[in-house]
Amino acid sequence: MNIPKYVCHQCVPEKYIQKLIKVEGDKENKCSYCKKKILNISIAKLADLFDEMIDVHYEPMLGSSRKDTSGSDAYPIIIDELQVSDKLAV
Ligand SMILES: [Zn+2]
Repeated sequence: MNIPKYVCHQCVPEKYIQKLIKVEGDKENKCSYCKKKILNISIAKLADLFDEMIDVHYEPMLGSSRKDTSGSDAYPIIIDELQVSDKLAV
């Protein structure tokens, strides 16, 4: 998990995450998934942002099975949400 990965707003299924990327992202890097140079964000940063808003906005959507994420890294959730796992890791 040491290789920075970037994801653009077109490669995420969640509207809320798309919004985050449009607000916080930039075009300095290519998306690691579609290779387009459009608004994107590093997954690490996305996880940070996601972590901040997860309690307020996202938890109801996650369902009870994932409520053990409080205080922990949101990275696994992001990965799960993006349905990419590590299959694209270089
Ligand atoms: Zn993309």
